[in-house]
Amino acid sequence: MTITLTGVTKQFGAFKAVDNVSLSAGERDFVVLLGPSGCGKSTLLRMIAGLEDVSSGTIEIGGRRVDQMEPVERNIAFVFQTYALYPHMTVRRNIAFPLIMQRARGWHHLPFIGSIFKRRIERMPEVRERVESVARSIGLDEMLERHPRTLSGGQRQRVAVGRALVRNPTIFLMDEPLSNLDAQLRVEMRAQITRLFGQLGKTFVYVTHDQVEAMTMATLVVVLDHGQVQQIGTPREIYEHPANEFVARFIGNPPMNIFVGRRRGDRIAIDDGGPVLALPEHVRRQTADGAVLHVGARPEDVLVTPGSSGAGTAATVSAIERLGPETLVGIVFGENWQRRYGETSVEDFARLGGYSTLKPGDRIEVRFNEDRLSFFSPETGQSYSAPATIQSATAEALP
Ligand code: ATP
Repeated sequence: MTITLTGVTKQFGAFKAVDNVSLSAGERDFVVLLGPSGCGKSTLLRMIAGLEDVSSGTIEIGGRRVDQMEPVERNIAFVFQTYALYPHMTVRRNIAFPLIMQRARGWHHLPFIGSIFKRRIERMPEVRERVESVARSIGLDEMLERHPRTLSGGQRQRVAVGRALVRNPTIFLMDEPLSNLDAQLRVEMRAQITRLFGQLGKTFVYVTHDQVEAMTMATLVVVLDHGQVQQIGTPREIYEHPANEFVARFIGNPPMNIFVGRRRGDRIAIDDGGPVLALPEHVRRQTADGAVLHVGARPEDVLVTPGSSGAGTAATVSAIERLGPETLVGIVFGENWQRRYGETSVEDFARLGGYSTLKPGDRIEVRFNEDRLSFFSPETGQSYSAPATIQSATAEALP
């Protein structure tokens, strides 16, 4: 189902946790709400689920306005970070629970009668079949009679996913479902959730602060900061064409290098002994000669060669991080090279494939993939974007 948010705002007293968010997701979008801790992503998800009221704005699901509806009326499944399983119930009953609640209509509150009712419902053929088919689809069919405490973190998370699946909801909402798992399990679960998304063909909205999850799973990434949307785009778009310096620095590890430069005619000279680079036409149109600009370069677009044959700008290696499949090379250009970003001093990195034998202090030469640079206004931090480039990236990346 489509999801459309228009001007959604959440205020806690005078504080705006979510500030005027508008977005629209298609029937088969995997939307990832991404941003640093406290940016408002969980609050936004909870408003879609109906667990939190909106202060203003509207939420539509499948063209139907839902922001004033009760959570149960929205036919949404919610998977929490903490799994929220019932420890005293078997996996079977945990998964069946939404169906039991649907059918028990209040009886489940009565201590003795309630438990008889629950058992009856659990044994109904259509409930058994549904629970078993869901369990099979996520590889839990061998574990139906076990209790959550006897399961691993990944298995518990699958039970939580199973419980979300069982009611056949129209939309899946997930709030950092993998954050309690170890690194290896996260990779496995990431693949499982992506597979599930492919099989179900439904809209997912997924909250995380982990950019790898966003880049690998999303069809649409919504980057948030301080409750406000910073950029909405495909993973490729936000990586290759960040809308502003916040997105440029938040996405990518290490983040995009941001250099300070000055326009000289149709070129830009990076300060403090850095290279002189071509300035694209769309940036020239938006800036005056002599203007100070911020130039963004992804580490893989900074090309390093050892020695000093004159093929690039002379630089020195300031740090080396060998990660196995790649090496990160810290670079400084001149004697007075300033490593800076905002108030903090940061290293500028080049990314080299494989294991490099370079070491700190080595002389190198640096060139840039000049057609892949980003340019930002130092005053606003906004990109001087080239709309045509962004549109073509979207068309290509969307499934
Ligand atoms: P995290 O990744 O740490 O979970 P988040 O991006 O999901 O962060 P939210 O949980 O949505 O952030 O919170 C956004 C902001 O709203 C935070 O500053 C938080 O302290 C505040 N906030 C959330 N719930 C309430 C509340 N009930 N009352 C007051 N402030 C709240």
